[in-house]
Amino acid sequence: MKPGGQTKRPPTRTTGEAGPELEGLLLDSPRFLVAEIDNENRLARANRALELVSAAGAGELNGQPLGRFVHSRDYVELIEQLNLARRGEPARELEVCWESLDGRPCWVEWTFRLLGAGDARLLAMGVEITRQKQAEQRAEEMTAAGLHTLLTEVIESTPDVVALLRADERLVYLNWAGREMFGVSTDNLTHYSLNNLRPTETVELIQREGLPAAIREGYWSGEAVLQAAGGEEVPVSLVIVAHLSPAAEVEYFSLSARDIREARQLQTELRKARDELEQLVSERTTELFESRQVLQLVLDHIPQRVFWKGRDLRYLGANLPFLQDSGVESLEDLIGKEDFDLSWKANAELYRSDDLQVMESGIPKINYEEPQVREDGSHLWLRTSKIPLRNPQGEVFGVMGTYEDITQIKRAREQLAEKNEELMRSNADLEQFAYIASHDLQEPLRMVASFAQLLERRYKGTLNERGEKYIGYIVEGAFRMQQLINDLLTYSRVGTRGRSFGEVDCVQAVGQALFNLQVAIREAGAHVDVGMLPTVVADETQINQVFQNLIGNAIKFRGADPPEVRVWAEREEGAWRFAVRDNGIGIDPQYKERIFAIFQRLHGRDQYPGTGIGLAVCKKIVQRHGGRIWFDSTPGKGSTFYFTIPDAKEPK
Ligand code: ADP
Repeated sequence: MKPGGQTKRPPTRTTGEAGPELEGLLLDSPRFLVAEIDNENRLARANRALELVSAAGAGELNGQPLGRFVHSRDYVELIEQLNLARRGEPARELEVCWESLDGRPCWVEWTFRLLGAGDARLLAMGVEITRQKQAEQRAEEMTAAGLHTLLTEVIESTPDVVALLRADERLVYLNWAGREMFGVSTDNLTHYSLNNLRPTETVELIQREGLPAAIREGYWSGEAVLQAAGGEEVPVSLVIVAHLSPAAEVEYFSLSARDIREARQLQTELRKARDELEQLVSERTTELFESRQVLQLVLDHIPQRVFWKGRDLRYLGANLPFLQDSGVESLEDLIGKEDFDLSWKANAELYRSDDLQVMESGIPKINYEEPQVREDGSHLWLRTSKIPLRNPQGEVFGVMGTYEDITQIKRAREQLAEKNEELMRSNADLEQFAYIASHDLQEPLRMVASFAQLLERRYKGTLNERGEKYIGYIVEGAFRMQQLINDLLTYSRVGTRGRSFGEVDCVQAVGQALFNLQVAIREAGAHVDVGMLPTVVADETQINQVFQNLIGNAIKFRGADPPEVRVWAEREEGAWRFAVRDNGIGIDPQYKERIFAIFQRLHGRDQYPGTGIGLAVCKKIVQRHGGRIWFDSTPGKGSTFYFTIPDAKEPK
């Protein structure tokens, strides 16, 4: 330990001679202790200051061996330094305990140097540092004492129980936590020994295992139960340390015990939480497994084929119907295969390029039709959809596809289209035929009718009654036939002579119909009520004709009361629905189809005139506009005829 800065140090030099002035100065100095040491390590001479420190009279030190004054502990070190100095090597300051002749120790810091070259004598210069040394020692003691207090405070305030036992197991010290737990006070501590501890099992454990292990290895730890003063048993973790004397004998055992209830509680909770988690995980796994199974089950029982492939275009999975199509035995067989390995080798290239397109663009390809040729030579049509499969990060890792066999549907569709075309052709032929026939029939019929009339006029009175009756039949028949042929022409013209569609204000159309029907209205004393009517896109002449036929029938087929007719329109989705209601004789619902057929009538001509063409024409017109026609009726009470005109449709 270095002395403090209060003391002025002698100049230190390892070699070289101290000049005579310096020597004199040093010798006289009351502060520096100076001596000459001979080659046998004796004091050859000493200055006054050294004599005073050493409690020696003048000259009394001369010839005294150095070992006489230096504590044996420091002596070896001293001789080493002297030898170093003699060899001219750097020596350092040496603190030694210097004992005066009267046995009083003091502390001196010495430095040594050679008196002259080739000389074994040394000059020793020293400074007394006793006071500093004492201060240092006091400081050390004080620090040790302070630390002791601090440690005691720590031990007193810890919630752990800390006890110190003597080697004979008697209690020496018990900290606050321990005193609280066992209900003992500091005064009677020493009355207790390890044997007072409860339960006895713990005492036995400590004596049998803890103490021997602590003696053997210095340390033992384990778990035990301590019984508190109130009887409560507290589980603790116990640490025992053996403290040995310098002679390596056990002096004390220290025991520390930590309450582990909370830790155990935490552990239990932790274990419980872990168990719950495990339970949950296993349930979820089962659930997941089951839901996968269910999913596969569902997939296997739908007619739709489902498959999924990885980025490398190899199959990852599929449902049962797909497997059956593909010609492989099982799912295991399918996984890892490519389209080239399956029944539709011929189409593999096409399918794969679609897969790639879907995966690269990330855009699904939905409901497209594609061909399939199978190994057995069958040619099929499929309706397919493919969507990209993405992982949670959104990256495409594969493609999923579904398809259904639409070969039948496609065939049926083609057949239907063929049939429709055929039908349209034959319809057109028929219309053409009806038109030509009725048109060409008109001419000879007109001749028959006019000559029959001529015959009637010219030969009236020359024929007998029967002859006149017959001529009357011919005339009437010819007229009727003309009427029928006219009706037939009208009917066939609906398709062949229809005009192009334009905006038709239905209020005007109904107005025109009422104008044409004014005589009938007047004669029947009918009242026609017209509601709000829209403007539609249609063939104006034909719409007029529909209203005229329906309102005409409403008046014609009246009952005993004067006809009450109402015309109105209502919106329905994508169309206007028109209605013509009357209070007439009504129609038996069984005739709901029949009355719309050409020349179909429910009554004799003598009852209600007509040819049975009106509703057939209405139906044809409404159909040409893309609408439909029907009626509701209660026989004896009246009928309501409905027809729809869809919004802005192209003409047929
Ligand atoms: P026509 O009026 O020349 O007999 P239609 O084709 O217009 O021919 O009508 C066919 C048949 O439907 C009629 O003969 C009649 O029996 C029945 N009918 C049509 N409209 C009505 C109506 N408003 N009330 C009762 N019966 C009707």
